[in-house]
Amino acid sequence: MKKKIKRYVGFWAEDSKSLLPRASDFIDEELSKKCRKKIINYLRLASHNGFNFTKGFSRCRICKTITPGSHEITDGEYIWPSGYIHYIMKHNVIPPPRFLKKMLRRNLK
Ligand SMILES: [Zn+2]
Repeated sequence: MKKKIKRYVGFWAEDSKSLLPRASDFIDEELSKKCRKKIINYLRLASHNGFNFTKGFSRCRICKTITPGSHEITDGEYIWPSGYIHYIMKHNVIPPPRFLKKMLRRNLK
């Protein structure tokens, strides 16, 4: 059986030396409320698929508050940190286009 490729999203650069993307580059204030709600619902629904629990916590790269959880979540294809939802709810960060498309296709209320 062919193993599905895992795609990492929402792992952000801590400083300017990091090769990871910066969360602030993905803010989209134009994203509709309806669309954002679907994204949040998708992430919440998958939140029981947590793994890689660590003892540490992570601070938001934008507002520096502690983000929820200290583990990773997967939907089987994508992997994101538990704090990813904070960026969507508080800062209007949008997922990469392919992931967004997948979320919106699910058509969660
Ligand atoms: Zn924040």
